[in-house]
Amino acid sequence: MTDTIILWFRQDLRLNDHPALEAAAREGKRVLPLYILDDETPNEWRMGGASRWWLHHSLSALGKDVLNAGGQLILRRGEAATILQELCEVSGADTVYCSRRYEPWASAQEKTLHQTLGSQEIAFKRYGGTLLHEPGQVMTQGGGPFKVFTPFWRACQRIEIAPPVTPAEKHWANRVQSDDLDDWALLPTAPNWAESWGDYWRPGENGAQERLHEFLDDEVARYADERDFPAVEATSRLSPHLHHGEISPRQIWAMCEQKRLENPHSETAVKKFQAEIGWREFSYHLLHFFPGIPETSFKENFTNFPWQANEERLRRWQEGNTGYPIVDAGMRELWATGTMHNRVRMVVASFLCKHLLQHWRSGEDWFWDTLVDADLASNGCSWQWVAGSGADAAPYFRIFNPVTQGEKFDKKGEYVRRWVPEVAKLPNKYLHKPWEAPAPVLKEAELELGHTYPEPIVDHRDARQAALDAYEHIRLSN
Ligand code: FAD
Repeated sequence: MTDTIILWFRQDLRLNDHPALEAAAREGKRVLPLYILDDETPNEWRMGGASRWWLHHSLSALGKDVLNAGGQLILRRGEAATILQELCEVSGADTVYCSRRYEPWASAQEKTLHQTLGSQEIAFKRYGGTLLHEPGQVMTQGGGPFKVFTPFWRACQRIEIAPPVTPAEKHWANRVQSDDLDDWALLPTAPNWAESWGDYWRPGENGAQERLHEFLDDEVARYADERDFPAVEATSRLSPHLHHGEISPRQIWAMCEQKRLENPHSETAVKKFQAEIGWREFSYHLLHFFPGIPETSFKENFTNFPWQANEERLRRWQEGNTGYPIVDAGMRELWATGTMHNRVRMVVASFLCKHLLQHWRSGEDWFWDTLVDADLASNGCSWQWVAGSGADAAPYFRIFNPVTQGEKFDKKGEYVRRWVPEVAKLPNKYLHKPWEAPAPVLKEAELELGHTYPEPIVDHRDARQAALDAYEHIRLSN
């Protein structure tokens, strides 16, 4: 028996409500906190640029928090199995604890590690804490996985949610050699496209807690009624913190319950917010039972969908130059901030798959690279939901009209004017459909369609019909 346990941090970059860390501390042994950047093995789902920006800042924050608590976060880059074995040797540790992950490659890695480390007499233990309920805990009466959200969420709420774990005193292990975070070059340079992201985000556990408190104090009251309006700050913006594990869903749940008790008027809004956390749970449930979800259409008939791969269309969508202001605003918000409002994510995703007939995977890939909350489960399931190919998906024939979506959810045009300044001087009447504005109105707004702002990339009615025809093709072929 040795007196050191390695606590291997992964997508759980926090010190509180961390079951693996608390279990290690309760063993009464010294804890060696370690993060491994294991990104050299070829993997299509290698962390995207925006996630790497977040990771840099999150690790920097975690390093400071560990230091303040009396320890030292060790950073290493390379293959996890090799590094864990090497560090066990250097530190004399005979045990590795970590939080479980659910991506197919991560689960496979955990199984291999169990064997590799086990053969060296190193114990390897995984803990929960990333989800409210572990996959497999919530099943249908027949014992199968749920494929529809509402009964899944009902069943989830029948199972007690454990409160956050109480922290135990920690004894940290002596320092061993660590990489320098800056040497990992996770931040973009030449160009530094994330230059202003610090204005929008505060990665790290303290930033996550601050955001949750601000949201529950000031914004949650607006959540149920205004969460669909992208110009209004009515959602939590917790997704990147949740994705990187800087806050646990159980901590959020406990704070929500406290809020409901303190203020019964907040009941509806808080429950609505909790149900969105439920969608995150559902995505992980689906990923666990259907690990192909990020890559293949859940509904088999979509395998034959006549997508029309077109680089030019995809590029104009990515750059926010489609000529549909609400779509362009969303894509530019994404580029400028690393996020996009949920309502607009649905609009731009529908536009890509249905108006432009591009495969949902090309949109999923772009989001993977550009979102700070890029998450294999939520991203894959959401893209399939919008495309109509997923479990419990929106029906294919429900094709968002980008003009009416803009008019409904950005009525005064504050969101579009912020991100698409070329059309900012148009009156509201034409803001979401500049091509309908008479020449004098365009002139007054200093807008030259086709020069200062693009003509629409496709005609809505024609594109809608083409999408329905494409769907008919797979409907008839089954
Ligand atoms: P809030 O409205 O405050 O919701 C609270 C939390 O619930 C979120 O932080 C998130 O963790 C979870 N949540 C909310 N909606 C969903 C949902 N539909 N599915 C799963 N979890 C949800 N979310 C990601 O976290 N990562 C992604 O990569 C991602 N990709 C998406 C791609 C598309 C095409 C679409 C339509 C949605 C995607 N979402 C993704 C879901 C959703 O848009 C974001 O979770 C949400 O916009 C984050 O903002 P928020 O934290 O203010 O959300």
